[in-house]
Amino acid sequence: MAYVISDECISCGACADGCPVGAISEGDGKYVIDDSACIDCGACEAACPVGAPSAQ
Ligand code: SF4
Ligand code: SF4
Repeated sequence: MAYVISDECISCGACADGCPVGAISEGDGKYVIDDSACIDCGACEAACPVGAPSAQ
């Protein structure tokens, strides 16, 4: 299990600043989550203004 960021992402960076394990980085056109580092805390979902991150 890990969180995944959808194409709704507007690359604001808010989720990356709040991730406790540094699993989120800027990708090509959107931010991306390293699924091997994500601990499923949900902070990115709470921080995102457009609801792009979700649990998979
Ligand atoms: Fe980081 Fe938590 Fe989001 Fe996983 S669920 S990417 S650990 S903020
Ligand atoms: Fe993208 Fe949401 Fe993260 Fe902003 S907070 S970079 S819109 S996933």
